[in-house]
Amino acid sequence: MATATQQLPETMFAWRKHRGNPEPVWEQVPLPVPTSTGVLVQLLASGVCRSDYHHLTREMQPKWFQEKWTLGHEGCGKIIKFGSPETEATSKFKVGDIVALHSVPGCGDSTCPECSRGLAQICQTGHHSGIGQDGYYAPYCAIDVRGLYRVPEGVSPAVAAVATDAVQTAYHAIVRRAEVKPHETVFLFGLGGLGWNALQVVRHIGARVIVSDVRQSRLDEAVKLGVPAEDVVPIGKSIPEFVEERGLHIDTTLDFVGVHQTFQDAQAIVRRGGKLLCVGSIDSENTVHMHVGTRKRLTFLFTYGGQHGDLDDVLDLIAKGVIQPQVETGRLEDFPRVLKDLTSGKIECRYALLQGEELEKVERAKAA
Ligand SMILES: [Zn+2]
Ligand SMILES: [Zn+2]
Repeated sequence: MATATQQLPETMFAWRKHRGNPEPVWEQVPLPVPTSTGVLVQLLASGVCRSDYHHLTREMQPKWFQEKWTLGHEGCGKIIKFGSPETEATSKFKVGDIVALHSVPGCGDSTCPECSRGLAQICQTGHHSGIGQDGYYAPYCAIDVRGLYRVPEGVSPAVAAVATDAVQTAYHAIVRRAEVKPHETVFLFGLGGLGWNALQVVRHIGARVIVSDVRQSRLDEAVKLGVPAEDVVPIGKSIPEFVEERGLHIDTTLDFVGVHQTFQDAQAIVRRGGKLLCVGSIDSENTVHMHVGTRKRLTFLFTYGGQHGDLDDVLDLIAKGVIQPQVETGRLEDFPRVLKDLTSGKIECRYALLQGEELEKVERAKAA
């Protein structure tokens, strides 16, 4: 029974972005206040994403980004209170429920050009948790009920947190954008935070997948998962040569890296009439070869986040063991070190920062 209102602090410490400052700032801020259609959530886990680094270091941002805001856009936590009795009465959730938090659930207005077309993830009106507005690297956050998703039994808060971006974005990219089909052969660049989950989605669909990564440990993991050794590009091998020597017809390239080399290679290896899915954007600009694109009649697809319903599908696939995200865990205080490790390739896959009862539980288990 979750009834008695717990004593809430008035302030909290959070990792914040200050405009013009590329380093995260550990700052004391007031406890967030939910809107009348929102809830206050006590965070249990927040996933660290490479885009946190881009948010800190790229100052060219949309004008609605705030001057100072709390970072973190992959969250899972416990509902502490509702913003109004009406919302509490009509919600399918209750105080004490553990929920996964969709960072960009949109405004939900029927006249919104994006939300009305099922594209809430690119709506500019709704709140964007941890993307230019307050997010999840803090003990508490406020979020609209539209952003709440039930966490199935057996799914940990760390996994539920990374499901909201690292898995959902990969799922949306493969299923809704690239529309990968069982008879196809696809080429996957990058087996990191998102690419690792993409690999499992593609294998679940049943398509053949050729994989490449710059880290041998990631290729070894792919083989352990069941990717045949002949479908792994050896490190240092030219990818166009690999594809040509084997006579492969790559229907779709799935680029979870987005550097000059992968973007070039994708255009070289994709079959005539093929598709190029762009997810990673490590290099902010890449070159399209116009003659290659027209002669081969290529389709370039870009993708961002996931649409309503995707996260339910994703959490269900995780609960069934179809997708097994790899997540290391640590403390919220460690965020700057974790981000450095992530950008220098020291983190194998994904990392979640734990808090509260979940941190205690995991630390007890580690000590035992
Ligand atoms: Zn992200
Ligand atoms: Zn909207």
